[in-house]
Formats: sequence, structure tokens, C-alpha cells
Amino acid sequence: MVKDKVKTPPAVIDAHAHCGIIDRGWPQSYPAYARHAATTDIGGAALFSPVAEIYDRYDAGFADTPAWRLRRKESNAYLLSLKPAEMTVYPYFFIWNDFAVEQLSAAHCGIKWHRHDDEPVYHYDDPRCRAALDEIRRRRLPVVLEEEFDHTVRFIRELAHGITVIIPHLGMLNGGFRSIAEAGLWAQENVWADTALADRTEIREYIRTYGHGRLMFGSDFPFGDPASELQKVRSLKLEPAIEAAVLGGNFIRLQACVNYR
Ligand SMILES: [Zn+2]
Repeated sequence: MVKDKVKTPPAVIDAHAHCGIIDRGWPQSYPAYARHAATTDIGGAALFSPVAEIYDRYDAGFADTPAWRLRRKESNAYLLSLKPAEMTVYPYFFIWNDFAVEQLSAAHCGIKWHRHDDEPVYHYDDPRCRAALDEIRRRRLPVVLEEEFDHTVRFIRELAHGITVIIPHLGMLNGGFRSIAEAGLWAQENVWADTALADRTEIREYIRTYGHGRLMFGSDFPFGDPASELQKVRSLKLEPAIEAAVLGGNFIRLQACVNYR
């Protein structure tokens, strides 16, 4: 008899966790994540590289080098190598200014796009950026976008047509929940959010105003603790169907759109 290999998707999925073994500044290897998650019913995680493995965030004038390109490649490859028995890993590709979408594979589930306002900038006007966005759009990969406010607005209004953009932390590091709301971005069908390190009041307000269909539980491990971030969402005492959507259902629905080729 041929065994059915289609696994039931996990009910609880962490949509935002960092994981890597090159940067030793934090305990953030997969085993470190798994130790935290083992105390919970988290059965899957979207994993991104740590920022320190992608570019030098402390050097605003940072120029890319072959060594950094190699470091990024190795960091992204580590996530693809993870095939733990106890957890479904959804590797996200952390993109930087070489816009190396040729490294995307059928195993990638999304894109991580990240910088803070005092960090080296993305070259949005580089033709390779447009080409990368075209490839991301073709693959229908969601993009977790952590950027300063003006770039977030430009990315969504001008560059990311047809691409699902997940704003992490309910906007805390993208100019704030309120600014994103006033710009009208939360109301857009292609703009999603995660709950990582967001406060309960904003999570409640988001659901009340925009519904629960585009909100996902995330921990921001190692900066957030998966168990307490999960407990934070459960402590809201949402209706069971809404809680199930936020904890994993929405993530699965989003991944079902991806063109894995
Ligand atoms: Zn993060």
C-alpha cells in the first residue's frame, strides 16, 4: 500500500522567527528555537536569517563584498537544510541589495525584507530590484517587510502591486500601527500583519477594524519568546474560529497561494 505522504498542516504556526548559526550574538540556532517551542503546541515556523548574517546593520555606509554575499548564501542555505521531525519549517529568503532571486528554490515559502532607519538602504531604483519583485510576484511569495515608514508606503503603493506584504509587529517598526492605519495600508487586501511583540490593544483594534483574515501569530524569536507570544494571543480570548485563523489557518491559506516552481 502506498502511504499517503501529505501531512496535515500544523494548527499553530509561528509566522515570524529568526534562526541561524553564523551569528553567535544570540542563541538562535534551530535547536534553540525548538527548545522554546517544545513547551508549546507550535507545529510549524516561518524562519528567516538573523539580520547580522545578511548585512552590517551598524554601518549606514555599508558596501557589499563577496564575503558578505557568501555569508548570506550560507545563512539562507542553513534554513533550507532544516528538516526536523517535530516541526514543519517554512524557509523565507532574506533578500538584500544583490537581489539574488536566482537563489530562490521551490522550497522557499516567502521573502524577508528588512532594514531600520539608521541602517544601510535598499537600492529601490536599481533595475535588479524591479526584476526581483517581478520574480517574487511570479512565485506569489509573500514579503515580510520591515522598513521605515516612507519606504513602507512607497513599497506598497508603487512597487509591490500584486504582491502580498506582511507588516510585522503590527507596524511597530514600520512607523507604528497608527501611521500605517492613517496611510490606509492595513485596509489593503494585499497587506497582512503579524502579532510579534505587538501589544494586545492594537491586536484587538486591528481585528475589530480590519477583520481577522490577514493577521498571523508570530514571535520574533529570539527577540520574542514563542511561548509567551503565543500565550499573549490566547489571552485575548478570541472566538475559537478567529483564534484558529490567527494562530495558523491564515498562514496556511497564504502559503497555499505560492507557486512552488
Ligand atoms: Zn524579526
